[in-house]
Amino acid sequence: MSGVKLEKVIKRYGNVQVVHGIDLEVEEKEFVVLVGPSGCGKSTTLRMIAGLEEISDGTVTIDDKVVNETAPKDRDIAMVFQNYALYPHLNVEENIAFGLKIRKVGKEDIKKQVDEVAGILGLEDYLERRPADLSGGQRQRVAMGRAIVRHPKVFLFDEPLSNLDAKLRTQMRAEIKRLHKRLGVTSIYVTHDQVEAMTLADRIVVMRDGVIDQVGSPMELFNNPINTFVAGFIGSPPMNQIDAVVEVKNDKLFANIVGHSIELPPLRELTTKDDGRKVVLGIRPEHVLVTPEDGAAAIPVELDLVETLGSEALLHCQVAGNHFVVKAETHGKTDHLEQVSTLYFRSNMLMVFDHETGMAFDHPSSTQV
Ligand code: ADP
Repeated sequence: MSGVKLEKVIKRYGNVQVVHGIDLEVEEKEFVVLVGPSGCGKSTTLRMIAGLEEISDGTVTIDDKVVNETAPKDRDIAMVFQNYALYPHLNVEENIAFGLKIRKVGKEDIKKQVDEVAGILGLEDYLERRPADLSGGQRQRVAMGRAIVRHPKVFLFDEPLSNLDAKLRTQMRAEIKRLHKRLGVTSIYVTHDQVEAMTLADRIVVMRDGVIDQVGSPMELFNNPINTFVAGFIGSPPMNQIDAVVEVKNDKLFANIVGHSIELPPLRELTTKDDGRKVVLGIRPEHVLVTPEDGAAAIPVELDLVETLGSEALLHCQVAGNHFVVKAETHGKTDHLEQVSTLYFRSNMLMVFDHETGMAFDHPSSTQV
């Protein structure tokens, strides 16, 4: 099967280790996105899969075959880069056909394949043009066409949309998703943009400092981030995080935020013995209420700024010295939002993290039944 498996993969540049023993299994036909801040080792990992970087330790397996010593051209992969890497002196047709020509595919067969791919990508009218006479989006499509005609077992994408403007990026993102649905080729995609990761991925791999923090479907990561890093990375705007202290009252657990108490959801890993323990409360901007509700705790806030998006607005506030963002519905006006001085928190919308380690309490991955 055309899956990709990484086992204890390490990358060192001289004495400096930048990828620290990564384990990852990508299933056949799966679309997996590696996401994380700049410098966390995403590209290096992808380039080791492609064979463009030597693997310092561990193994990479493609289609059940260890490829550590296999040349890139023999790995049955096709890579799409941020800078397109097109031949400027060749036209679109010749660029797409280049790899086939080198492999001595017959002329008629090449024409058939190029026409088919041009059809899929909407490039039929541009076959005679050179890259310089194309828009950024069209160039990126040519780069994808060149990858598609090779019928690889795996597509590798390295920030392919980074050079495009915001509108085109959104459009191309949808095209890549459609293409994957149609072709069903195993794909590994690197980006620093969490929105791209959320919209494209079957599963997202969140990387930090050369290690994998969490792997899961977009909604798994959104609903159950394993730590404060993932919580702060996934979601737009990301999850708010407030420092709080555990407080026990009548055998119930509360979080105290500068004198205000919010009842905590029931947690197996946090008990009355944790009275006085420092924690981090996590709450998504869209889960905070701006109007009172039965059972919701009221916390006074200082409103800094209201950013109007249309149907929604972002309220930037200060809560106990922490920057805090609320996403609220406007229902066509923002006057009521400009007046907000209290926010309301429901217990069941809170996540609780350890202050020292940043790890989530009662994360599903730690459930012992
Ligand atoms: P990302 O793709 O997540 O932005 P990279 O994989 O490009 O990160 O880089 C990971 C780390 O490896 C960074 O700290 C980077 O400086 C380092 N690095 C990348 N290439 C080299 C190289 N050729 N020599 C030394 N260090 C490198």
